[in-house]
Amino acid sequence: MKMYYDKDVDTESLANKTVAVIGYGSQGRGQSRNMADSGIKVVVGLREGGSSWKKANDDGMNVKTIEEAAELADVIHILLPDEIQAEVYEESIAPYVKSAKTISFSHGYNIHFKYIKVPDDVNVTMIAPKGPGSMVRRTYLDGFGIPGLVAVEQDATGDALQIALAMGKGCGLSRAGILETSFREETETDLFGEQAILCGGVTKLIDAGFTTLVKAGYQPEIAYFETCHELKLIVDLIYEKGFAGMWNDVSNTAEFGGLSRRDRIINDEAKSEMEKILKEIQKGKFAKEWTLESKAKMPMLNRMRELESEKKIENVGSKLRKACGLEKK
Ligand code: NDP
Ligand code: MG
Repeated sequence: MKMYYDKDVDTESLANKTVAVIGYGSQGRGQSRNMADSGIKVVVGLREGGSSWKKANDDGMNVKTIEEAAELADVIHILLPDEIQAEVYEESIAPYVKSAKTISFSHGYNIHFKYIKVPDDVNVTMIAPKGPGSMVRRTYLDGFGIPGLVAVEQDATGDALQIALAMGKGCGLSRAGILETSFREETETDLFGEQAILCGGVTKLIDAGFTTLVKAGYQPEIAYFETCHELKLIVDLIYEKGFAGMWNDVSNTAEFGGLSRRDRIINDEAKSEMEKILKEIQKGKFAKEWTLESKAKMPMLNRMRELESEKKIENVGSKLRKACGLEKK
């Protein structure tokens, strides 16, 4: 394992270079502002007429069209939604990808699954914060940072790693630590995490618990507090002190009940599905499905979004969060 902190990062490789951050959404906004505040020459590349254009201008960023930014920059850092990167790259970036430039990402998806193909004489790098863009910005302003990942897929200039690390330092990531990985490892573990655990697994677990309680006649509000609201408190404990710290803080009753029952929830069948989900990712089956879905303008995703918004837990939860001021009315 190789971890880089501020003191390990030499920013010389980026000293006279311009970084074009393409996109000003969650990551684009956080990363470009941090890099600019750290003294890196940053230009933001956007489509004219999009809603980001005004936002970036209002934030005082140097805004240009994607084509102009790609042409003038030494490093082109692509922070657009993954499913549209290949199209934008072909149309607006590829003509300006000249020898010795660096093409950079915060997720390995398009390079690993070969939706974007770059010439041999450019660097291909990744610098990826392990958290949303708003946190990248907030922690930076607080004088700290969130951890990040760095990877080099193609090193044409001999200092591709240093360039990526210098960008990470500018974002504040090396204050918390930047772990070295590969495009393959980052892409496959990231997809697995969000599908099986972080986004997919956890929402299904919460909703299944909520529905079980409500079906048995308990008040939906109690069910919400028990299965959703309290989850944050437990996860915070695990985040800070590991499983042991969490078990130590909950009651012995909770510890005995939890340890003796949990294998019935995440059972062998669930674990074998996790392995299948990972195989689908590794074989590119998931990426193929997602590409077809986004090309067809996302019919399945839109339908699933609709069903998700109609869930009882969303309705009950929203009212409770508003009542206690967690969510804006
Ligand atoms: P966003 O969805 O927030 O990106 C939105 C930006 O993309 C906007 O500036 C938008 O401009 C622009 N955009 C959207 N469609 C187009 C288009 N067709 N042509 C030109 N510009 C377009 O992306 P994220 O920040 O979530 O993700 C960026 C990258 O970072 C991805 O690779 C993602 O995997 C990675 N990542 C994201 C994390 C996160 O927490 N979100 C965490 C770690 C990595 P406009 O206003 O003009 O529409
Ligand atoms: Mg992730």
